[in-house]
Amino acid sequence: MIDFELTRAGTPDVAVRIAAATPTAQQGATVRFVAGGTNLIDFMKLDVETPQHVVDINRIPDLAKVEKQPDGSLKIGALVRNSDLAYNAEVKSMFPVLSQAILSGASAQLRNKATTAGNLLQRTRCPYFRDLAYAECNKRTPGSGCAAIAGHHRNHAILGVSDQCIATHPSDMDVALMALEATIHVQGAKGERAIGIGEFYKLPGTTPHIENALEPGDLITHVTVPAAAGKTKQVYLKLRDRASYEFALTSAAVVAQVEGGRLRHVRVAMGGIGTRPWRMADAEKALEGKAPGESVFHAAAEAALKNARPHTDNAFKVELAKRCLVRALTMATTNA
Ligand SMILES: Cc1cc2nc3c(=O)[nH]c(=O)nc-3n(C[C@H](O)[C@H](O)[C@H](O)COP(=O)(O)OP(=O)(O)OC[C@H]3O[C@@H](n4cnc5c(N)ncnc54)[C@H](O)[C@@H]3O)c2cc1C
Repeated sequence: MIDFELTRAGTPDVAVRIAAATPTAQQGATVRFVAGGTNLIDFMKLDVETPQHVVDINRIPDLAKVEKQPDGSLKIGALVRNSDLAYNAEVKSMFPVLSQAILSGASAQLRNKATTAGNLLQRTRCPYFRDLAYAECNKRTPGSGCAAIAGHHRNHAILGVSDQCIATHPSDMDVALMALEATIHVQGAKGERAIGIGEFYKLPGTTPHIENALEPGDLITHVTVPAAAGKTKQVYLKLRDRASYEFALTSAAVVAQVEGGRLRHVRVAMGGIGTRPWRMADAEKALEGKAPGESVFHAAAEAALKNARPHTDNAFKVELAKRCLVRALTMATTNA
């Protein structure tokens, strides 16, 4: 771990001002905000993250609230702990898929520390990214190559991969937020802006080190989740190597309405298989307006995975993801 300066900020304005005053290195920012620290501190100990300046934002009280808005949407502060969010009464009743996704991840202790923004920005678990003993990692050292493509890549991505990176986005919570069409609100040196979660995560392409739409020094202040137009069925299903404390091999978040025996306003996202949390637009098209049933679900799963680009060790994920989606759709619509 390298030496770094630690500062505490008491307001978003102060946090952004401190971050803006830190000079930016050629590759990536040299300033990082620390929230729960469950991801950043790990990576600092491994020397994968080497910020010169760490800004502790834990004492900004306004960022730790969950508030229902007059239009029915939910405003979730960046510092809301994952446990508090999962057990929040509004979340449990309005967005059970979000609660289920959070509770399927990590451990109770980690969820008590981890925050909304920290989860959105957690970095990949690719072992070649995490271990400096491997020189080749385009995400860590642009232009160095990708050790995973010729190495062990059983847990890696099959959607959104490039010749430069096949690392999977590891989050569960963000898959649910993708299906719920959340918006991420940011404050930076140039002011405030809102970014739809569909535009937030970048594909690796030729720049795997650029992971999202944030500028260096941008602070996530909160996330908003729009209220559904009607009563929805919601399910998060996660498949993994062991029943708890394990990242997804594949997962599916389903949000849908069933009106007059037909599926309406279907939103599907999947995790564990993409280089970012993956919205399944083709599956949604295949489901919209149809009567729920096995053949419709199988057609949607085929559509969802038609662009999968597996490598040798992770080809099994294509079939596993299809089965996961069919099962999640069945769970969501049973007794509809
Ligand atoms: C053993 C283990 C198992 C896990 N299993 C799972 C799992 O199954 N599923 C899952 O989804 N996750 C899992 N996680 C990941 C865990 O959910 C994340 O570590 C956690 O959500 C990160 O939140 P944090 O608040 O601790 O982030 P931090 O470590 O504080 O920060 C992470 C990143 O976000 C940035 N950041 C934080 N807040 C802000 C802000 N407001 N604005 C701008 N930047 C910000 C930091 O600078 C840093 O880059 C696991 C973690 C561990 C260690």
